[in-house]
Amino acid sequence: MHLALTSCGGARYSHYAMAWFHKKKTLAADEKRPIPDGLWQKCDACGEILYGDEILQNLRVCPKCDFHFALPTAERIACTLDEGSFAEHDRGVESLDPLGFRDSKRYRDRLKSTTRSVGYQDAFVDGLGRIHGREISIGFFVFEFMGGSMGSVVGEKVTRLLERAHERRVPAVVFSASGGARMQEGILSLMQMAKTSLALTRLRRDGIPYLSVLLNPTTGGVAASFAMLGDVILAEPRALVGFAGPRVIEQTIRQKLPEGFQRSEFLLERGMIDRIVHRKQLRDELGRLVDLLAPPPRSAGASA
Ligand SMILES: [Zn+2]
Repeated sequence: MHLALTSCGGARYSHYAMAWFHKKKTLAADEKRPIPDGLWQKCDACGEILYGDEILQNLRVCPKCDFHFALPTAERIACTLDEGSFAEHDRGVESLDPLGFRDSKRYRDRLKSTTRSVGYQDAFVDGLGRIHGREISIGFFVFEFMGGSMGSVVGEKVTRLLERAHERRVPAVVFSASGGARMQEGILSLMQMAKTSLALTRLRRDGIPYLSVLLNPTTGGVAASFAMLGDVILAEPRALVGFAGPRVIEQTIRQKLPEGFQRSEFLLERGMIDRIVHRKQLRDELGRLVDLLAPPPRSAGASA
């Protein structure tokens, strides 16, 4: 309808009265045009139509209802760490596709094309950075990369960041957002749960704190291992956190689940997590915890 109206716009120049008529109709049609992507966004929680810039300036939190939209990894790093302090490590760690897996396309090709479109080599980025001037060993799930699924690369990187924290005697911090284990690597993905948990026991033994931050969603093998093993576990509001998704559980037990099941608030009430922190306060909260819990530097002459 709209196309038909605009395609006869040439008539405006030859017939003034017709131009008026057409112009009016075109405006009316414009009003019905769907909201273009990127400029406006509808809040998933309250349904409010929000201006894109307004959300961006608010750290991608709905100004009307405080719903936390997914935050791209680069923005997450920027709003968490002291400016310019992040030094990425373990960049060259790549999956070797040990199973030669293929679904609708070869796993190797999927990794390559996802790397091209997302800009990360796998679903995790880690390194050293500073919060409030204090050094930490930190890692972030890249949810944009295959739903933040954990295969051997993610497990290896998490383990390395924990080992780095141990070696440097600095707190470890992991931001989790994951659909769980990566099916394309089968049992090797599941083995990352044991591997990362073992690395954590070393930190615990030697009094190096590990802070876990749960984002929406943190599920499957990630929730069932290091994400829920933090000395302190923080979560963003209304984040979905659990092993199996609520729909799968409902279908299995054939019962309706309670309101808010598996959301951060539900977990806090039952003692599964320590605190829910609004995205705007997260950096300062982490800074405070790191200050409180960071181990004293190794004194000269003390044994490692
Ligand atoms: Zn909202």
